[in-house]
Amino acid sequence: MTRINGFIGRRNFLKFAGTSGLAIAATTIGGSLTGSIEQTAIADVSPANFNPVNPGQAIKLLLDGNQRFIQYKRQYPHQSLARLQLVAKAQYPFAAILGCADSRVPAEIIFDQGLGDLFVVRVAGNVASDMVIGSLEYTTAVLGTQLIVVLGHTKCGAVAAAGKNEPLPGRMGYMAESIKPALTNLNSHDAVIANVQYQAKKLQQSSTILGQRLQSDKLKIIGACYDIDTGKVNLIP
Ligand SMILES: [Zn+2]
Repeated sequence: MTRINGFIGRRNFLKFAGTSGLAIAATTIGGSLTGSIEQTAIADVSPANFNPVNPGQAIKLLLDGNQRFIQYKRQYPHQSLARLQLVAKAQYPFAAILGCADSRVPAEIIFDQGLGDLFVVRVAGNVASDMVIGSLEYTTAVLGTQLIVVLGHTKCGAVAAAGKNEPLPGRMGYMAESIKPALTNLNSHDAVIANVQYQAKKLQQSSTILGQRLQSDKLKIIGACYDIDTGKVNLIP
């Protein structure tokens, strides 16, 4: 069997995609959905239209959710038993988040999303390591996610540690070494933003799978920064 980066072969991939699409379409027709967000996210899913949430729509869903979060108007969407049962059959996360492991930046909470919405990879300093890249290749190539957000945050301890240029005990040194290249030639850039841009660029340049999907407009990679004090997510131009 041929394999794509250790996941599944093309034949099985197509089988997986088709079967899962049918499953979620059938369940949607069954009518267990509530709320406009749920309808927007999965209403058009079908085998022929594998993932209808394009990057622009995905960005809007995230920013709308973050607005609800900071305005104390959270809807806690997609957290019902019906939703659990729906996504047990197949998942179509509409966005992937490469975020920091910091306990104050939980993706589903700050974007007001629920089960099956976000494919979240979190590691200190939102570093694009090989393991992280493999996970993001999986969600884009197999699950059909069309948006990756590299999400840094203010007061990031990992970025601060990397900036100090001091030896770190244990394996924390690996983390700092993966951030340090972003902090050279800093100029006016904030270190957190520079690190987001560096890791986003690394995703684009070091993965053939992500690169191909970017070129065919089936993927967008953007950077964003979460403000620890206000809860607001700001896109990085
Ligand atoms: Zn952090």
